[in-house]
Amino acid sequence: MTVTMSGKMVYRLAEGGADMVSLLGGKGAHASEMARIGVPVPPGFVITTETSLEYFRQGRRFPDGLWDDIVRHVHMLEEQTGRLFGDEDNPLVVSVRSGAPVSMPGMMDTILNMGVTDTTVAGLARMMGDERPALDAFRRLIQGFGDVVLGIPKARFETVLEDTKKRAGAGFDYELQPEALQGLISEFKGIIQEATGEPLSDDPWVLLKAAVEAVFNSWNNPRAITYREFQGISHNMGTACVIMAMVFGNLGNDSGTGVLFSRNPGSGERGLYGEFLPNAQGEDVVAGIRTPQRIQALHSAWPEIYGQIDETARQLEAHYKDVQDIEFTVERGKLYILQTRSAKRTASAAVRIAVELVSEGVLTQEQALGRVEAGEVSAVLMPHFVTEAKAAAMKEGRLLAEGVGASPGAASGVVVMDPDRVAAIADGGQPVILVRQETNPDDVHGIIKANGVLTSRGGMTSHAAVVTRGLGKPCVVGCEELRFEADGRATARGKSIAEGDVISLDGATGEIFIGEVEAVAPRPDELEELNTLLGWADGVRRLQVWANADTPEDAHRARANGAEGIGLCRTEHMFFAEERLRHIRRLLAIGPEASQLIRRVSELEEALENAPASEREAMQGRLEEAKAQCDSSEAVQGFHAELAELERFQTEDFYGIFKAMEGLPVVIRLLDAPLHEFLPDYGELVQEVAELTRRIEGDNRMEAWLNRGRDLVNRSAAELEKLTVGKRVTDWLSERVSLPQQADEEGLREELEEKERTLELVAHLRESNPMLGHRGCRVGLTMPEIYEMQVRAIVTAGCRLAEEGAPVRAEIMIPIVSHVNELKWLRPRLRAVASKTREALGIYVTYLFGTMIEVPRAALTADEVATEAEFFSFGSNDLTQMTFAFSRDDAESKFLNHYVETEILPRNPFNTLDTRGVGRLMRMATEAAREVDPEFPIGICGEHGGDPRSVAFCNELGLNYVSASPFRVPVARLAAAQSALGQIQAAD
Ligand code: PEP
Ligand code: MG
Repeated sequence: MTVTMSGKMVYRLAEGGADMVSLLGGKGAHASEMARIGVPVPPGFVITTETSLEYFRQGRRFPDGLWDDIVRHVHMLEEQTGRLFGDEDNPLVVSVRSGAPVSMPGMMDTILNMGVTDTTVAGLARMMGDERPALDAFRRLIQGFGDVVLGIPKARFETVLEDTKKRAGAGFDYELQPEALQGLISEFKGIIQEATGEPLSDDPWVLLKAAVEAVFNSWNNPRAITYREFQGISHNMGTACVIMAMVFGNLGNDSGTGVLFSRNPGSGERGLYGEFLPNAQGEDVVAGIRTPQRIQALHSAWPEIYGQIDETARQLEAHYKDVQDIEFTVERGKLYILQTRSAKRTASAAVRIAVELVSEGVLTQEQALGRVEAGEVSAVLMPHFVTEAKAAAMKEGRLLAEGVGASPGAASGVVVMDPDRVAAIADGGQPVILVRQETNPDDVHGIIKANGVLTSRGGMTSHAAVVTRGLGKPCVVGCEELRFEADGRATARGKSIAEGDVISLDGATGEIFIGEVEAVAPRPDELEELNTLLGWADGVRRLQVWANADTPEDAHRARANGAEGIGLCRTEHMFFAEERLRHIRRLLAIGPEASQLIRRVSELEEALENAPASEREAMQGRLEEAKAQCDSSEAVQGFHAELAELERFQTEDFYGIFKAMEGLPVVIRLLDAPLHEFLPDYGELVQEVAELTRRIEGDNRMEAWLNRGRDLVNRSAAELEKLTVGKRVTDWLSERVSLPQQADEEGLREELEEKERTLELVAHLRESNPMLGHRGCRVGLTMPEIYEMQVRAIVTAGCRLAEEGAPVRAEIMIPIVSHVNELKWLRPRLRAVASKTREALGIYVTYLFGTMIEVPRAALTADEVATEAEFFSFGSNDLTQMTFAFSRDDAESKFLNHYVETEILPRNPFNTLDTRGVGRLMRMATEAAREVDPEFPIGICGEHGGDPRSVAFCNELGLNYVSASPFRVPVARLAAAQSALGQIQAAD
């Protein structure tokens, strides 16, 4: 045994085990484990991941002693197999495979048939009893070595192979006869000689050493790096190198190779699921070059082998307590298992398998909860085609073709046939379906950006199938009826598609339609297994899961998904409806004046109460005057009228939501949005006014307007640009379109006046930094009548329901608080309105007044804030925005993605809580509030409430609940349980 600084470098399979994944890689550890439990694996050994890292540390040099260790272990293989490496008569042939601690399907390299050389090939042929497979192994070695080790483009070999097949009239590789293979071998050697200037070595030890280096190096090839970055896998793990005696699946019709899952990875259905290629080597299956037979075909062809495979699959599944993805080879009727690993599966399969493994007694309920990725659970609610829309598409003859449904979900998008072009189109906002003959690891960047993938070749275990399932994207493979034509079109059933056409695919059924087919998400209560699993999660978790819902429909959906309350009802969303907008706009137009007059009256009333007797008379006079002004003010009257109208709408809204929630808590947030959001876009309005003016007054007046507009927008170059464009457009239009001379000028003038008024208002409300501007409680403080109206609506709705005998639990939330004094001013006033409303209606409902912690100052002074609030909810979207000073609206498109790609930030903090910064504020605030009251209720209602690792953080922090969008409620339920069981942790 050679020991370096990093320890033992090489392990025999018998020395390893499943608990050594980080050292032996997934493949090595599991091959060892299989050997340990008596599964038939070929003999082999593993070079550790640490050794590959040491290789890199030493500037891509083998650490001292490694080569001797490898040679010694090859000699051990010789003893175990009774064959000799490089021997003329009885040669040992090995595979050299990469294997990282986490699965990186197809991203790194493998070289097969190591040990076949000019010297050994004849002996191998004798050993195999057939010249053809020996020569085939040799040509595969040269091809693999040329591509992987020497970096010669694959296509150079493939072209020669295709030509040779054509000349020989062979449809498949295995149909090539010895003579053709001999020719191929010498052509391949010629390619190597030409590309490297040297002949291929005949010394298998030289080739073996180069192959091990190539495997190490493949850890850092560009596609492996891209994949790790996308999947968030560390670059510091390194790859193991597994060297195993080769077994041959291409020795004739009693041999073959296959890949299978112990259960269907698409649906989760119990029973072997996979594919088998007779008389072939493993790479033929994975590459999807030939479309294999379904594994069930073996049942009748080779019942004994099928039985053994089935039994081994069950044994492995029971041993690993998880569904397995198994590679096997049958060499002359003898079964060898080459590899097993936990299978990638669709989210719905994961749920079904976890639930069934519990009922089969393989897993406990708690273990089963850890078998499903919380973040993927919402994929169980993946869209599928609307039945009627699909039927219509069928009827219209839009079914283009049918393939194998490899990863479920329904997607529509434009056809793109080159993965390099996918990103540009997808980033431009168009959904893309990547259409290819087959995919390979070089295409991953395109697959990642596509909404769905369609391939004409390959099966359930082909590259496209495996990668898309991992990514949760719909995929159809093996659609052989789709033919790719020379003109770039693909045809099937007399129809054709080309780049830019829209198609829709169903990854569950394998159907492909021309054009768009409407898709919907399934209802979760239809998904029994999911409910069973989530039921177990509910039994384990401490953290409650509420939902963000703004309408009764949302509330129903949230409850169907298991929400235990509403943690955020954003009331501004209720103001956006068309028939409400004109009321809120008028309210905002007259509100400031009206509110000021009203405030003057109440200030004088207050002053009068506290005034010394000597001043009372004068003050009384001023009060009367102010009251008269208020009563006669059109603004005040209009303001009250608009508030009454909005109150009517809001009362109905809240009534519906309370009713849907049947007594579960409903947190209603008072108006939060910056006010300009209720008004038309400023730039557009300026253009409209300019255009109307031009139509009425001609160019001069319009120029004046444009100048005025330019003044008003002089802070925004982009808008100026729009204006100039707008003018050019209007010029262009007026040159070409003859405007009716007799246009209704009066009507136009009225329209213009209306628009001018709106423009004034918009100009008045515009802010440079609306997110840091006049929003939330700042509006409540300057125009308290709006919040008072909302509180009246909430209490009235609650009282109405209470009167009907239904339970109500209202929690009123005041947003964007930064200083406790804001609450000190607002809360008693709003409380007074609430109790007055309750008294007037003569019905008793209870309510709480709380606040959001969205502003860092509020978090830093949470002890003070807690004395004036009955609950908190972390608005982690704004808290993240304000802690990082990253604009929620712009950061992602401008620089945040770059930050994540270059690892300036480990992840997007708007998706997963930044526990060290934002989380630290949350911890301080929680601790401070719980100092004031150990039972102080605290939740979170930013987007993070539906992100598993953020949920884990909230659980660890001791929050009472997380609130997520209805669709992500199941994610939060499962994540909360997994966190309680220690199966997931907060992000660091
Ligand atoms: C938040 O800031 O986290 C929040 C929930 O409020 P909104 O997203 O509406 O600003
Ligand atoms: Mg907010």
